[in-house]
Amino acid sequence: MKLYRIKKSNIDRKGRGLYANKNIKAGTRIIDYVGNIITKKQTEKSEKFDNSKPIYLFNLNKKYDLDGDVSWNTARLINHSCSNNCDYEGKSLSLWVVAIRDIKKGEELTCDYGFAYDSDYKQFPCNCGSKKCVGFIVREGSRWRINKKLKKIYALNK
Ligand SMILES: [Zn+2]
Repeated sequence: MKLYRIKKSNIDRKGRGLYANKNIKAGTRIIDYVGNIITKKQTEKSEKFDNSKPIYLFNLNKKYDLDGDVSWNTARLINHSCSNNCDYEGKSLSLWVVAIRDIKKGEELTCDYGFAYDSDYKQFPCNCGSKKCVGFIVREGSRWRINKKLKKIYALNK
């Protein structure tokens, strides 16, 4: 039995997500993240990654990226959450998704997309609904910057 199934997502209302099909223990490898392995040069040249779909692009090493925006990559359906229960793991040119805590049957599987903070973060709003949500898809280490910014705006408006 597969550990996940595809369902309409609660996070990405317009799209689908992956849901736990049974209780999953922390550390379990759930699904492989597959796609086309391309060189950094191809990434640079391709208009596809000019901002529209960077969320499916993974940095594998100095030379290669993985373009996960392909129909056979079911793992691309996993949505971002600010309190994610899964994470990406990899070795050489392979990537997979692993549970980082115990997950209950029926929970939506979520990852941290790991976008760096930059001026463009506003084009990726986050609707994960978690208490920790900062409103945008930004990797955990950078979220404090946004919190700080919001606090500043709040202070100015008071
Ligand atoms: Zn969020």
